[in-house]
Amino acid sequence: MVDYGPTWDAARLGELERCDYTCQGCGREHDPETLDDENGVKIHVHHKVKARLFPRIEDAHYPENLIALCSRCHGRVESGKLPDSRPDVRDDVNMY
Ligand SMILES: [Zn+2]
Repeated sequence: MVDYGPTWDAARLGELERCDYTCQGCGREHDPETLDDENGVKIHVHHKVKARLFPRIEDAHYPENLIALCSRCHGRVESGKLPDSRPDVRDDVNMY
């Protein structure tokens, strides 16, 4: 497990609450207590720009760099099959 620093828990919870515990990939809702959906799939918070690329790991936890994804979608993003893995995705959205 990577140590994301002392601010990570708050940043992660903030993102989950902002997304209302809903996966931003497939739209499934998750239980705020267990983080499970109806199939027992957990929700994660993903760094669009990988945390290890930041000189100070806490600097990676800004809201625009975080996205709530279930473990299925997280796997697809990490393997490059979902566009949310691109760090500029929200900039693209803002252009339209
Ligand atoms: Zn999902």
